[in-house]
Amino acid sequence: MQVAKNRVVSIDYTLTGEDGNVLDTSKGDEPLAYIHGTGEIVTGLEDALEGKGPKDHVSVTVSPEQGYGARDDAVVFTVPRSQFRGVDELEVGMQFEVQGDGEGQVVTVVAMDENEVTVDGNHPLAGLTLHFDVDIVDVREATPDEIEHGHVHDGHAEHEH
Ligand code: ZN
Repeated sequence: MQVAKNRVVSIDYTLTGEDGNVLDTSKGDEPLAYIHGTGEIVTGLEDALEGKGPKDHVSVTVSPEQGYGARDDAVVFTVPRSQFRGVDELEVGMQFEVQGDGEGQVVTVVAMDENEVTVDGNHPLAGLTLHFDVDIVDVREATPDEIEHGHVHDGHAEHEH
């Protein structure tokens, strides 16, 4: 079966940055399963996998526009350290979910001093050209439930509906 919209695709993947550093990989873990054509994975990778099948290897370089978007300096902001009261050991690199315009947004602490903390609301991979090496493991039709919920139902992830 080939990769097409509303099919569940399982992939082994390694994601590297421009200088070949590994940013993420499924090696040593279960393959990643996603529903194709629903925007679960970045556009550039989804496009490259379209029409491919099990055992195919896909190697693709994805621009920021086709990946996690350009960086936006407007979402880097400084807040008083008192807003992190209750956090025992605040460190650069820590991530927090904050309530933005209705939706939760993840921010990363990028700098701090005694009084102020600078957080970055960009996706950690925003602005980066990304290289994906992907082995397609399996392709199957998504169930009607999976299509309705927008996520894959097998595997270990138990969730409430
Ligand atoms: Zn579900």
